[in-house]
Amino acid sequence: MTGKALVCGGSIGGLFVAAALRRRGWQVEVFERTAVELSGRGAGIVTHDVLNAALEAVGVDMSDLGVAVEDRVTWDLAGNEVGRMRLPQVVTSWDRIHRGLRRLMPEGTHHLDRGVTGYAQDADGVTLRFVDGSEARGDVLVGADGFRSAIRGQMLPEVQPVYSGYVVWRTLAHEADLPAQVQDEVFPHFGFHLPTGGQFVGYPIAGVENDLRPGHRRYNFVWYMPVEVGRLRDMLTDGEGVLHSVSIPPPLVREDVVAAMKAEAEARLARPFVEILRVSERPFFTPIYDHVSPVMAEGRVALAGDAACVARPHVGMGVTKAACDALALARHLDGAGDVAAALRAYSAERVPEAEKAWSRSRRLGAYLFDEPPGGNADGARNRHLDEIMRETAVMVD
Ligand SMILES: Cc1cc2nc3c(=O)[nH]c(=O)nc-3n(C[C@H](O)[C@H](O)[C@H](O)COP(=O)(O)OP(=O)(O)OC[C@H]3O[C@@H](n4cnc5c(N)ncnc54)[C@H](O)[C@@H]3O)c2cc1C
Repeated sequence: MTGKALVCGGSIGGLFVAAALRRRGWQVEVFERTAVELSGRGAGIVTHDVLNAALEAVGVDMSDLGVAVEDRVTWDLAGNEVGRMRLPQVVTSWDRIHRGLRRLMPEGTHHLDRGVTGYAQDADGVTLRFVDGSEARGDVLVGADGFRSAIRGQMLPEVQPVYSGYVVWRTLAHEADLPAQVQDEVFPHFGFHLPTGGQFVGYPIAGVENDLRPGHRRYNFVWYMPVEVGRLRDMLTDGEGVLHSVSIPPPLVREDVVAAMKAEAEARLARPFVEILRVSERPFFTPIYDHVSPVMAEGRVALAGDAACVARPHVGMGVTKAACDALALARHLDGAGDVAAALRAYSAERVPEAEKAWSRSRRLGAYLFDEPPGGNADGARNRHLDEIMRETAVMVD
């Protein structure tokens, strides 16, 4: 059958679902809670062949996708190279992918400022309920509303994201602002620093407005740092004393929290990355949570992307997983007489894939806390070095 699909969440996951279903002849309406067009603050996204194929399959323009990176290099605290591996990849940005998908939505089918509160389903269809009391009716509902999904909250209230014990600090530096030596020796590579009690990953991404010209690109700085729950509560408290649950908007992170992170970086981060941080924009942090749903559908309602499962960012699979969910969902629904049976088949196909990404990401994350005999405070003796360099942001198969 084809019919009308309602998609809750208008970020990359929701837009992928919409694009994939539209190509199979479905009428699709996307409802996004945020009142303004979304922006990824320049976040870098590592591509995989599967993601590129998915983008092409739904009709995204693939020209100027991102920056090509050839090698992976690990540095210790003093800035000595302790590992190198060839692994060519193209790194793009959240904004580039979001924009490519957003353009595919016809006028009047992508609705902003439409927060969803829940749904009701019956034999003939599904009704979506909005914050303002209004409703929409369709044949299928897809919850692509992220890791705190309202749709999953109703379908699987027992599935709750769990705090990993660490946060990720992120920022961007302009290529032209970096010291010459860092530009030559660090910027072109996918870089690591892997001491006990931290994990640093960095790579070049496009500049503002997808500018790929040498000298105009940016460096994506990603530093995972253990933070116990009491300290996290303090970091999530803004200057007015308001405690934000789960995550805090970047402008509200207190100055003393940012200053403490910078002081810690000066003491504990490999020299090239300290130099990058010194010329970066104001860093912001996100606590790392994960979860995996045991099923991804119930009746006429399906989950996709981060709503279904968040694998920690070490595997760099969030966008790719959302893309694969979208293509599988559209394939199972194509020509299906029984929507619920099609969604059960979708769930049976995708849950094991989500579990694989989730468990690998937890293994890579656990290495933050691994203390080898003799210690590894300077990142020169990480006994999982090869594995981390080989598996970080690489497709889980
Ligand atoms: C540091 C970091 C690095 C990453 N690196 C990579 C990488 O290299 N490669 C990769 O593939 N992925 C990466 N990811 C993950 C990736 O960004 C996401 O997994 C991916 O974008 C899928 O998101 P989504 O659309 O499912 O959910 P989200 O992006 O969370 O979007 C959910 C949307 O739903 C909306 N919404 C929420 N509730 C409601 C509601 N009640 N009603 C209506 N709308 C609602 C939200 O406003 C939001 O727009 C990274 C993530 C992080 C944090």
